Amino acid sequence: MLYIYSVETKPNILDTTIEYIKGIGPAKAELMQKELKIFRVRDLLGSYPFRYVDKTKFHVIKDVTTDGDTVQLRGQLVSFEKIKGKNNRFRLQGLLKDSTGFMELIWFQGAKYLTKILKEGEDYVVYGKVNIYKGKKTITHPEMESARARAADQLQSTFDPVYPSSEKLDARGLDSKGRRKIIKTILTQLTEADVVENMPSYLIEKLKLCSRFQALHWIHFPKSAAEKSLAINRLKFEELFFLQLRLLLGKENRKKKLKGAVFDTVGKYFNTFFKEGLKFELTGAQKRVLKEIRANMGLGVHMNRLLQGDVGSGKTVVGFMSMLLAKDNGYQACMMAPTQILAQQHYEGISELAEPLGLSVGFLTGSVKGKGRKKTLELLANGEIDILIGTHALIEDPVVFQNLGLAIIDEQHRFGVAQRAKLWKKNKDIAPHVLVMTATPIPRTLAMTVYGDLDVSVIDEMPPGRKSIQTMHKYESARPKVINFMRAEIDKGRQIYIVYPLIEESAKLDLQDLNNGYEQLLGFFPMPQYQMSILHGRMKAKDKDFEMERFSKGITQIMVATTVIEVGVNVPNASVMIIENTERFGLSQLHQLRGRVGRGAEQSYCLLMTGNKLSKESRERIATMVRTTNGFEIAEADLKLRGPGDIEGTMQSGIMDLKLSSIVHDTAILNAARYYAEAIVDRDPDLAHETHIAMKAYMGRRAQRAKIWGRIS
Ligand code: ADP
Ligand code: MG
Repeated sequence: MLYIYSVETKPNILDTTIEYIKGIGPAKAELMQKELKIFRVRDLLGSYPFRYVDKTKFHVIKDVTTDGDTVQLRGQLVSFEKIKGKNNRFRLQGLLKDSTGFMELIWFQGAKYLTKILKEGEDYVVYGKVNIYKGKKTITHPEMESARARAADQLQSTFDPVYPSSEKLDARGLDSKGRRKIIKTILTQLTEADVVENMPSYLIEKLKLCSRFQALHWIHFPKSAAEKSLAINRLKFEELFFLQLRLLLGKENRKKKLKGAVFDTVGKYFNTFFKEGLKFELTGAQKRVLKEIRANMGLGVHMNRLLQGDVGSGKTVVGFMSMLLAKDNGYQACMMAPTQILAQQHYEGISELAEPLGLSVGFLTGSVKGKGRKKTLELLANGEIDILIGTHALIEDPVVFQNLGLAIIDEQHRFGVAQRAKLWKKNKDIAPHVLVMTATPIPRTLAMTVYGDLDVSVIDEMPPGRKSIQTMHKYESARPKVINFMRAEIDKGRQIYIVYPLIEESAKLDLQDLNNGYEQLLGFFPMPQYQMSILHGRMKAKDKDFEMERFSKGITQIMVATTVIEVGVNVPNASVMIIENTERFGLSQLHQLRGRVGRGAEQSYCLLMTGNKLSKESRERIATMVRTTNGFEIAEADLKLRGPGDIEGTMQSGIMDLKLSSIVHDTAILNAARYYAEAIVDRDPDLAHETHIAMKAYMGRRAQRAKIWGRIS
């Protein structure tokens, strides 16, 4: 095979395959490829330590008093001998002396090597775990380093890097100690020319970042805590900065390619509704968001926007008014909900608003069949339906619009990237604008990162006059009081939800829980005085609708349900939410559930029931729920508790290549990275400016490498 390098891409030590590195060779290289996906020197240097052993501190022998402590000592090896123990086995025994006392050192293995390198009377730095037995202090198999050598070593770290390893790697001498040695060898050969700076110099200056070259040294062998954090900061910033740059350039590119219908008219539908149909004053946040949406759709740039707003913040009316803009410009619109129940509710709510304006609203879900379905599809195709509401059945192939201009997706987290892409193709030439609404808000920059191809609008204000929901944590022992409380609320004419967790792994158990609860409640709330509804995922759609309707009409006072009622359901008279086995729910789910109450004029309550034994994390979740009703705050707490895993999972694969940084925990760096990346893409979207050339070249090289690897694997 012949490699042809262009002038700029001279062979670089970073591209060397690791088997050619001194101390590795083919067998070890293969093992590292298998275990760690390390192929080249760049991968090896890029496999950063996950922690450091602090060797800045020295202990004195007198103060070493706790069995099991790891210590670092400096002293003289006053004696060193081979001793024959019981059953004829040899061991090496040494005695280390510092100004405060003596420490025994013992080795059962490696005598041949050790006798070669250790000399009686010399000074050593000794590192290891202490064993104290009957007052005698011993370190078995300590790490030994000549004190003179340590003082002379330029690359000597004071924080020893610890690398991820495995048994197999350890057995082949590729444990942290072995890897340190290899990496050190490489670093001594590395020149500044090998590690081209990829960040514009003005950013480096402004943010006081160390160079890449420096960072690679310091991340592996920091001589001080300051060097360690400089390296970590630089590398984290670099990761997040290029992530943002990739996302922004990708979006820019898509915007150039994908045209959207021009909605430049604000016409009679919008204006009539605004003047006559709207029953309340829009909040400032709703107005601002509507403006953002209008500006976006007015320009003929394809809209792909996420509308974040807490439960009850009034996203629906914003969505509806956006649909009116579509109509004003001669286009159809649709709204897609994640469940049958929610689609039905939207259909009813929106029909009520749209019909006075002379608009016709259609409904389509999987359960609309036969003649009804045929008729709806016909009306849709010839443009007699203006607004179509439904479930994901809307994006199935047989559904053809006359001219779809705007698609709204409610509760985004149930719809994937692929489904959104399918929506784009629903119109013949121009992709319909897309507005995705979610009540699971996440911090803005994070949202723009996770949903990289979406613009983000935020409703951060609640309609006035909402009573806050009182949230309380109750143990099982308080059950009788809870029952009394329920009776009192029902006597006042209120309605109550009781929700049981859904156990994915055990559908049977889950239903059993629900049914047991239902039976028990029947004892406390006997018919015919009381009426109860029951709702769970394995009921037929028809039965679900029936039960939901009985509850929303006030025929039943209690709704016993699994989490199927989580999303969007709106029964304003329901003012109490009781959650059973709260410890089994995640934070955002609890918040969604609680959002089912507090929708009417009455004081609402949320009771979080738990058993007595709670993990620390459950306790924290519950405390968060009791403390705040702010969805953004809850979302942040949730992210910090769960870590980034979940959320990264929802991102397009391959876009994240983060080794050190976390989009959840490194918020400040993420925000800065976004800020500077945006500024660059605004001013110089082609990265043509002189100060951006290195950055562009770096991105090109990375993309090239990714492509090559993509082909190989
Ligand atoms: P969500 O954002 O959770 O989807 P909805 O759109 O269902 O919230 O709105 C919740 C309730 O608040 C609805 O009954 C709606 O009519 C009402 N609402 C929306 N905006 C306002 C407002 N500006 N003032 C008063 N009530 C409002
Ligand atoms: Mg909603």
